Amino acid sequence: MSFHVRRKDREITDPNELRQVLKTTKYVTVAFCMENEPYLVSLSHGYDEAKNCLYFHCAPEGKKLVYQKANSKVWGQAVLNFGVTNECDYAYTSVHFSGKMRLISDLSEKQHAIEVLVRQVSLKPEEKLAKIKPEKLEKTTMGRIDITYMSGKKHQSPKSQG
Ligand SMILES: Cc1cc2nc3c(=O)[nH]c(=O)nc-3n(C[C@H](O)[C@H](O)[C@H](O)COP(=O)(O)OP(=O)(O)OC[C@H]3O[C@@H](n4cnc5c(N)ncnc54)[C@H](O)[C@@H]3O)c2cc1C
Repeated sequence: MSFHVRRKDREITDPNELRQVLKTTKYVTVAFCMENEPYLVSLSHGYDEAKNCLYFHCAPEGKKLVYQKANSKVWGQAVLNFGVTNECDYAYTSVHFSGKMRLISDLSEKQHAIEVLVRQVSLKPEEKLAKIKPEKLEKTTMGRIDITYMSGKKHQSPKSQG
């Protein structure tokens, strides 16, 4: 079955605008499914535009990794939340995406991933990155979500906030 954003007046179709949401938000919420049971977590992320993938880090074990091993297909959402408008409506921009999640083990990719992640989520990225040594990175669990689909929806502009 195929679905589309029903409200065409609110749909974001410009791929650059969709990518910009993934580039400027600090975290995504990612849904999993295993044996007909849903699960979700939020993850701080860095978006790599060239690879169209999201990088994240996490603990080496836990429920989300059990789900990911059973079924790597994920669905996710990133939100820019502008709050209640003057018209008492709610202003937001959001992107949905689907893709495949996998862990990464190659140290050079981990280095790239941590740079993308820290530069997106930190106010002083270079300071933080200078503290991350290869030995530490080697032990850090990192993953990526390769995005295969994106949709976007925008409701009201932040200018009409009240
Ligand atoms: C804004 C934000 C950013 C985050 N960024 C990261 C990140 O970059 N990396 C990362 O690994 N995690 C991040 N987290 C935490 C993440 O959402 C999960 O809580 C965490 O990854 C543990 O997931 P798990 O499946 O391994 O947990 P487990 O401890 O294995 O989960 C077991 C059970 O604990 C409960 N549980 C787990 N997490 C939560 C939760 N957050 N709130 C309430 N109940 C919970 C659920 O009921 C679940 O069934 C972030 C959370 C937020 C809100």
